[in-house]
Amino acid sequence: MEKIVLGASGVETSRIGLGTWAIGGWTWGGTDEAVSIATICRAVERGITLIDTAPVYGFGRSEEIVGKALHQSGLRGKAQIATKAGLGWVDGKVFRDARPARIRREIEDSLRRLRTEVIDLYQIHWPDPETPIEETAGTLGELRREGKIRAIGVSNHSPEQMEAFRAVTQLDTVQPPYNLFEREIERDVLPYAVAAGITVLSYGALCRGLLSGKVTAERRFEGDDLRRYDPKFKPERRPQYLAAVAGLQSLAQARYGKSVLELALRWVLDRGPTIALWGARRPEQLDPLGGVEGWKLDAAAGAEIDAILQSCIEQPLAPVFMAPPLHRPDGV
Ligand code: NAP
Repeated sequence: MEKIVLGASGVETSRIGLGTWAIGGWTWGGTDEAVSIATICRAVERGITLIDTAPVYGFGRSEEIVGKALHQSGLRGKAQIATKAGLGWVDGKVFRDARPARIRREIEDSLRRLRTEVIDLYQIHWPDPETPIEETAGTLGELRREGKIRAIGVSNHSPEQMEAFRAVTQLDTVQPPYNLFEREIERDVLPYAVAAGITVLSYGALCRGLLSGKVTAERRFEGDDLRRYDPKFKPERRPQYLAAVAGLQSLAQARYGKSVLELALRWVLDRGPTIALWGARRPEQLDPLGGVEGWKLDAAAGAEIDAILQSCIEQPLAPVFMAPPLHRPDGV
């Protein structure tokens, strides 16, 4: 398994991380605890030692399942846990809140749910325009000095916001959306991270399953599954993305004997100091892991990939539909 050190923290992790948003159930049509635990254990046993979670994923459920899986399997010592802070919720409605007092409460809740004494990577989930970044950054710096966290990260932050953060404390990672279909960070966040020695945890590496090759035009999503609202999955746009998947699948097979899923994850890993977060939620979904490692895309394949994307997708859509509201509800 390829490894990477998170920024200047000294924390080493695998370059593929298990994303556990879907394991929390919320906005993914529910979860099955036993299957989720088996998936987390399978990941760590196969060398995916980085587990990314957040309090908001299932309103504590994802963190609880991660904590239970690592505790009862005895695998905690082999894993690095990345979790987040800075989102609150009332009656299932999420809002941004990165005030120091909230982070101080959140860290204790996360340590308890995760059944651990230290969090390997602690990230601010979304920038909170109502709280000065310096205050949030200062609190994370304190938590590291207190030994509660080992590395510091942000998610969904711009270079300007990261610059303000770094004026106060060391910043090791950034977690933006990044996959073959969502490449906005190439304009600013990725070059900034490369120059500043910040590791990039790329989320939605499979574009919420689109790049798995298993989504069809007919497939419907049930319950609260966010893909019911994701503009890329709507009938107006899904055919374009599926045409691109078909083209990428042919290229991956013809040039490398690989699947589109393996190509999509490899592509993220070949873009810089990156980690690919893979939102598997069943153990067998991790079977293709071996096909992601031990090879690289060459420049000619990169150009062919770009040509496929350009010919199939008109005006690529950014995943802005996932952003929580900017302001807190009254009285919070
Ligand atoms: P993702 O990894 O792009 O896609 C996840 C979906 O891909 C799964 O739910 C599954 O869909 C499908 N999938 C995975 N492996 C598969 C396989 N072998 N075969 C077929 N389908 C497969 O999406 P993501 O969960 O949105 O992103 C990954 C992680 O990034 C999250 O879990 C979370 O940790 C992180 N993230 C962070 C933020 C943030 O704001 N910081 C936002 C989004 C995500 P099925 O439902 O069909 O099984």
